[in-house]
Amino acid sequence: MTRSSRAAVSSLDSLADALPRPYWLDVHTPPQPCSALTSDRRADLVIVGGGYTGLWAALQAKEHDPSLDVVLLDADQCGSAASGRNGGFCSSSLTHGLHNGVERFADEMPALEAHGLANLDAIELAVARYGIDCAFHRAGELDVATEPWQLAELAGTAELAARYGHQVRLLDAEQTRAEVNSPTYLGAVEMRGSVAMLDPARLAWGLRRACLELGVQIHEWTPALEVTEDRAGITVRTPYASVHAARGILATNGFPPLLRRLRSYIVPVYDYVLVTEPLTEHQLDAIGWRNGQGVSDTANQFHYYRRTEDNRILWGGYDVIYYYGGPVRAELTQRPRTHALLADHFFHTFPQLEGVRFTHRWGGVIDTCTRFCPFVGSALGGKLGYALGFTGLGVGATRFAAAVLVDKLYGRNTERSRLRMMNTMPRPLPPEPLRWAGIQLTRWSLNRADHREGRRNLWLRTLDRAGLGFDS
Ligand SMILES: Cc1cc2nc3c(=O)[nH]c(=O)nc-3n(C[C@H](O)[C@H](O)[C@H](O)COP(=O)(O)OP(=O)(O)OC[C@H]3O[C@@H](n4cnc5c(N)ncnc54)[C@H](O)[C@@H]3O)c2cc1C
Repeated sequence: MTRSSRAAVSSLDSLADALPRPYWLDVHTPPQPCSALTSDRRADLVIVGGGYTGLWAALQAKEHDPSLDVVLLDADQCGSAASGRNGGFCSSSLTHGLHNGVERFADEMPALEAHGLANLDAIELAVARYGIDCAFHRAGELDVATEPWQLAELAGTAELAARYGHQVRLLDAEQTRAEVNSPTYLGAVEMRGSVAMLDPARLAWGLRRACLELGVQIHEWTPALEVTEDRAGITVRTPYASVHAARGILATNGFPPLLRRLRSYIVPVYDYVLVTEPLTEHQLDAIGWRNGQGVSDTANQFHYYRRTEDNRILWGGYDVIYYYGGPVRAELTQRPRTHALLADHFFHTFPQLEGVRFTHRWGGVIDTCTRFCPFVGSALGGKLGYALGFTGLGVGATRFAAAVLVDKLYGRNTERSRLRMMNTMPRPLPPEPLRWAGIQLTRWSLNRADHREGRRNLWLRTLDRAGLGFDS
């Protein structure tokens, strides 16, 4: 047996006992479900979707006007989808990173960055005000280079981040390994105040509790089947009963949108994650990582990873999958090939952790759009708003987009609601089979660029020129 096939066997073996469910939803007991909607009712505001977007919208609407009668519907339980199963990196970026923002909203970036930092502060304040026990910790993030060609890109990132007022430090290989010890690291950019680590499910559950305490009526196990306009406002039909409301919000992320026209703006892609068993003191000593920052690597196909409160490592990303036709189904949240690949990459990054086993493996849907960051819009004569397109960075940005959505629905002309980013739509995606072909070609090209010192092929350069390229 060769050395590499021995390594592959041992990394596969590490998955043998991994439970096929999200660690965050497994390690703490979820709240008792709220009952389904079984009789027709009226409301001032009806919200479809109980992830962060819907919960923040409900909370901020109630904070602004406690007399509003707000009803929130979720097809499953609040926080069961992306919001309860993500990496827990809560970034101040509203634009899926500085590079993507500068590419698309250069003129607005100073304002967007300032709003993003204020938004992160507001999340921290809300967590404290509502007593949300979600291990919120402004630990920062390291973007690490693992190939020499990535070092120049890191220097560019550090320069850009400093220009926008971030606390940033460029680290050489030795300084990087002093923070987190992997033999693969060649350098890093350290961003301090602008990223927090948190427990995503406990944030969702805490927001849900805060909403209930402010009087929001939540109905779980209540899928919205249809939204229509009526004389008084809108009607949301569910299996047993309907909600008639003056205004409504769609906060359904990558799930099939109730408004048909939104199907050309977002695609559901699946992102996969592993979590290890708790590390021993000896293993912790071997990797350092005492400051608990989030880490991601600089490649186009990147991993993101972090420590948990109980000394495990969460390891995800790299292999983002689009399935033909964009189905959203529970069974697609498991992908053995991707989990095996992630395990292999984990031991390549941390060979000193050989023998560590994974306890959880899962995946989840993210709502990608052609600009890779959120958009806010309205339909049905301005009575129905939506916020979608967060891609892989919605833990922080959902609060901001929800705030803008509520401002707009209630006619409040605020600085944030006037931002160009919050008043423009991404370019639409082509229908199948072109959609699938384009996404596969882009994935293949990004992987190739990572293996060719970052050189982008004709396809990626064409996307870049058309304003559709991705660089976070
Ligand atoms: C594996 C993974 C890792 C990620 N890591 C990070 C990270 O570290 N940092 C970061 O910033 N972002 C991350 N993200 C993205 C982030 O989790 C999302 O952007 C964010 O949670 C989106 O929140 P949401 O409320 O819009 O969507 P969701 O949390 O998906 O909520 C949508 C809700 O709508 C409900 N729903 C859908 N259709 C209907 C209907 N017809 N009727 C009623 N209810 C309906 C669903 O049941 C669901 O609860 C990650 C995502 C995934 C999947």
